[in-house]
Order: sequence, then structure tokens, then C-alpha cells
Amino acid sequence: TAGDIASPKRTKDLMQKYGFTLKKSLGQNFLIDQNVLNRIVSAAGLDASKGALEIGPGIGALTQQLAKLAAKVVAVEIDQRLLPMLEETLAPYPHAEVVHADVLKVDLQALFAERFQGVDKVSVVANLPYYVTTPILMKLLEERLPLENIVVMIQKEVAERMAAKPGGKEYGSLSIAVQYYCEPELVAIVPQTVFIPQPNVDSAVIRLKLREAPAVQVEDEAFFFEVVQASFTQRRKTIYNNLAAKFFTKETKPELEQLLQGAGIEPSRRGETLSMAEYATLTAALSAYLG
Ligand code: SAM
Repeated sequence: TAGDIASPKRTKDLMQKYGFTLKKSLGQNFLIDQNVLNRIVSAAGLDASKGALEIGPGIGALTQQLAKLAAKVVAVEIDQRLLPMLEETLAPYPHAEVVHADVLKVDLQALFAERFQGVDKVSVVANLPYYVTTPILMKLLEERLPLENIVVMIQKEVAERMAAKPGGKEYGSLSIAVQYYCEPELVAIVPQTVFIPQPNVDSAVIRLKLREAPAVQVEDEAFFFEVVQASFTQRRKTIYNNLAAKFFTKETKPELEQLLQGAGIEPSRRGETLSMAEYATLTAALSAYLG
């Protein structure tokens, strides 16, 4: 519709007006396709009782669509040069606020307490800068923010790893870390042509629906993720070899075989075949053994 920021012409005109040049180092690939924006926004399930946290609003193409639906939008942008442009494009939406900060450094708990007061549920909706996708998502998940959904455009390969089930080559510690907190769902695969400039990787929109409680119960989360990491250290090696290298000595190694058998896990299996429930059982057994 008229007034949409995300058209190639409006985007180019705005950049020209402000003398703005895109910075590759900040992952600045702006969306210029209204259909893709609609798919992102509709996947988030926003309504007039809900809030949206956007990371990296750019010139506001997605922010504007969020503001049309949500009660409150907070957009965190690192690039100061974009602030005057956002002031212009978001002028019609006073309930959309821009925060000038690096999302990796900002205190998100405080930001939520201050800016989402009285808002029922908040979702993160963003076209993420690809150079920091995983750190941003892990920060959002590990801080246990009160989130409903995380709907993000990310590199297609990363989306596939996040959504992967046991057994395939995409399944790894990232799949387990994400699925521990969320139920992932691939929403769309997106061609390079919907961005300027076009990124040199394929993209996908993924929805991470936050779980009420983690997918498995573990006593020590940090140790659980350590066990998972260790199990994938050398993907072609068996679970026995990977765990032996990390937690056992030459002398204690034989006991690992027994421990794995006791946990119902064949020592010859590879890390990529274990379900999250099996990793939880394994973590408990290792923790009991190591004391
Ligand atoms: N939302 C816009 C769109 O879809 O057209 C822009 C998306 S662009 C892929 C990523 C945006 O994130 C850029 O505006 C960039 O400046 C911003 N950004 C990069 N690193 C950031 C960080 N650490 N914290 C906050 N914003 C960041």
C-alpha cells in the first residue's frame, strides 16, 4: 500500500536523501519486498494486546508493519546514522520506539521492565544481521525473557540446523540448544532478490515458539550443554570416543563403556543420533559418576 517503506524506490529515495551508504560489516541487507514482510509479521501472531521487540530496524520497513498490529514496538539499532531516518519513517507510529544500542550489550531485562509495561506478551521479530545471528538468539534464550515467539529471518543453513531432528548432518549442538527452549518451525525459504544489497547466502524465516518449560529436565544446565558440545566435537567419531577424550583418562576409560550401556546408549553410536532425552539421561549418568 502507499506509504510502505519496503519498496525498492522508497528505500533508494530515503538512502539518497540522507546520504546513507549500507555497511556490510553490520549485516545491512534491507528488505524491499512487502510479501516477505507480511509473512514474517503474520508468523508472529501479533495483535493489539501484544508487543514486539525488533533487532536492527534499518530504515523501518519491518518496524512499520509491526507497529500497524502491535500495542508497542521497541526496535534496537546499533547504527547511529539510521536514527534520523527512523525518526522520519516511524513518525506516524508513536508507540514504536527506537533504542540506540548494540543488542548484545544492552540490558534486555531492564528494557523489558521499562518499555513493555502493561503489554501482555512480547515476541521478537527481526531480519537479523547474519554475522551475529547465533549470539543474539542465544542471548535471548539464555536470559529467559518472557517471550511468546521469536520470528527471524536468518541464513537458511542456520535455520535448518536449528530445526534439525536427530539423525541428519544438520543436527548438532545448535539444534539441541534451540530446541531445549523452543519448538522451531521453518516458515519460509526466501530468495536473495528480496534484499538490497542481495546477500550471498540463501535465507529463511524461522519461528521459535518458546516452551513453558525446557524440553527436558536437567539438574545442571551448563553441564548438559557441555556434554552435548563434547559429543559433537568430532562428528565422525563415536559418542564413546568423544566423551572419553573430554571426561575420562586412559585408566578410567573402560568405565565409560559401562556407563553408556547403563544409560541405554550403544557406545558405537555417533552424537548426531542421540535425542535430547538421551542427552539428558547421559548427563545425569555422567554427573553421578564424575560426582
Ligand atoms: N529490519 C531492516 C530490514 O528488514 O530491512 C534491516 C535488517 S538488516 C539485515 C540488520 C540490521 O541490524 C541493520 O539495520 C544493522 O545496522 C542492525 N544491527 C547490526 N548489528 C546490530 C547489533 N549488534 N545490535 C543492534 N542492531 C544491529
